[in-house]
Amino acid sequence: MDDKFKAKREELAKALIMQGISDKNVLDAIRKIPRHLFVNPGDEGSAYFNIPLEIAKGQTISQPYTIAVMLQALELKKGEKVLEIGTCSGYNAVLISELVGKDGFVYTTEIVPELINISKSNIAKLGIKNIEVIETDGSQGWEKNSPYDKIIITAACPEIPKPVIGQLKPGGIVVAPVGPVFGQKMVKLTKLKKGLKEENLGEFMFVPLKGKYGY
Ligand code: SAH
Repeated sequence: MDDKFKAKREELAKALIMQGISDKNVLDAIRKIPRHLFVNPGDEGSAYFNIPLEIAKGQTISQPYTIAVMLQALELKKGEKVLEIGTCSGYNAVLISELVGKDGFVYTTEIVPELINISKSNIAKLGIKNIEVIETDGSQGWEKNSPYDKIIITAACPEIPKPVIGQLKPGGIVVAPVGPVFGQKMVKLTKLKKGLKEENLGEFMFVPLKGKYGY
């Protein structure tokens, strides 16, 4: 994916390293995937700034640093099956698809119909086959293809929804911003043989999760 923004992606990767991102696979995915294809027409020039950008109806493509923190925490491996909640324009789903490789698979759920078309078209443009975009209330997870190796929630939730934890394999990891709508802590939850291990990865700001287990 060589294009006029290649140098910009390298600058972005360098900025993320300065901010403490060290996972080479995550950085390489950010170096490779053309984020400018996932922003609104006219915003391409801002696509490699380390900022979120509005896509539709107040929904945003997440800040690259935020995504990098979450992907690093997910410890993704080739061949894994991943559920994403909150597709928006599909950028993060494509990064995950790159990280799990062609033997892995990404199910990504989105509640805003307009974003289903946008994300599907962005993913198709890149010829990516290991992502399924599903229009549903992802706050309930996505039972049909469970259990998952990893689950990522990219909208603020009051707590990690119980069904989502239920859809995770033993040893699996969920990463999600948990807390009130004006600011959340990033939670990494690992499903142990007995019980759950919770880690706090810092303060972040997301759009609210809607639906049954959302706001
Ligand atoms: N993952 C995106 C950013 C997501 S922004 C990226 O790659 O940049 C949060 C998204 O969550 C929005 O698109 C919003 O519409 C969606 N969302 C909110 N509530 C949801 C729900 N209950 N189920 C699925 N998607 C939801």
